[in-house]
Amino acid sequence: MRALVKTGAEPGLSLQDVADPVPGPNDVLIEVSKTAVCGTDLHIERWDEWAANTISPPMVVGHEFMGTVAGTGSEVSGFSSGQRVSAEGHITCGQCRNCRAGRRRFCANTVGIGVNQDGAFADLIVVPATNVFPVPDEIDDDIATILDPLGNATHTTLEYDLVGEDVLITGAGPIGMMSTAIARHVGARNIVVTDINPYRLAIASRLGADRAIDPRQTPLSEVMAELNMTEGFDVGLEMSGATAALHEMIGSMITGGKIALLGIPSTDQAPIDWNDIIFKGLTVKGIYGRKMFETWYKMTTMLQTGLDVSPVITHHYRVDEYQGAFESLKAGDCGKIIIDWRTDPDM
Ligand code: NAD
Ligand code: ZN
Repeated sequence: MRALVKTGAEPGLSLQDVADPVPGPNDVLIEVSKTAVCGTDLHIERWDEWAANTISPPMVVGHEFMGTVAGTGSEVSGFSSGQRVSAEGHITCGQCRNCRAGRRRFCANTVGIGVNQDGAFADLIVVPATNVFPVPDEIDDDIATILDPLGNATHTTLEYDLVGEDVLITGAGPIGMMSTAIARHVGARNIVVTDINPYRLAIASRLGADRAIDPRQTPLSEVMAELNMTEGFDVGLEMSGATAALHEMIGSMITGGKIALLGIPSTDQAPIDWNDIIFKGLTVKGIYGRKMFETWYKMTTMLQTGLDVSPVITHHYRVDEYQGAFESLKAGDCGKIIIDWRTDPDM
């Protein structure tokens, strides 16, 4: 089969023929239709410090995908050949303290598809049956391909009650864009989104932001005054990883406000003044991955009841054009980028 492989400890990926994976007794074999490129894949492609410390080449990369069931292990039931599926990319042990408590996203022994074992950028992938998620008919192939990052957005956005609340989303990357649509869908009042990229701010506006601003040009205080917000944001969703954005968020929250942190800061972090958290009585919560599988349930039911995140998908490439997909992601004027693996001509 074809696969995008990290062949050695150096930058780059290569499209190669590799052996087909063989499902174990509890696995499902999936024929991959479409994949999407994530920031994690870019770290691996570039071979930065995180990748060098985490990845063991040779390995097939990628974890955002959808496809159809092509086979099942001897112990697996409940799937049919050709059924449309995606999968949770965190494989968990089921035995540790957190797994047994129903907090599988905090599993002590998590194995990441396309990070710790062969991934989805291939014609075929093998996934434990417990991780496979059947895709409802109403959800098209493109959206089914991005359920993994939509799950990050869903998990973060549903962390706090947003009904009637004023919400600040810092970072209009794909996840911030999708969070905007979710916040609108569940009934937030004012939604203000910040980013430093005008292309991405425009998509956030399409997805329902009341204001989408570059905070270097338009101070948040100005936007809040325009929206008649007198006391600050009720809920903050940090989705940029930028220290400046987190500081702006803390400074713009209402006393007693709630912050969810998804964005992963780089190493050059400016310290937080904890007095700002304490005297404002802020709740700050870290968000990791997706709840298994409550997040998957919530996001698919929202998609079935009117949530539309389709403007987040901005680019499509065929497998042989994969370098273009990575170049588009590097350039930054993009939302989600889809790579099509299908070989049939009517694609
Ligand atoms: P992304 O890098 O595409 O988006 C981040 C956005 O933040 C970019 O559009 C960038 O222009 C913007 N930005 C930079 N500086 C800013 C500033 N000062 N103010 C406002 N915006 C600013 O990432 P993504 O794929 O949308 O993911 C969002 C974040 O979530 C990333 O940090 C990612 O690493 C992280 N993440 C965390 C988890 C988790 O489980 N915690 C999972 C997936 C992604
Ligand atoms: Zn576990």
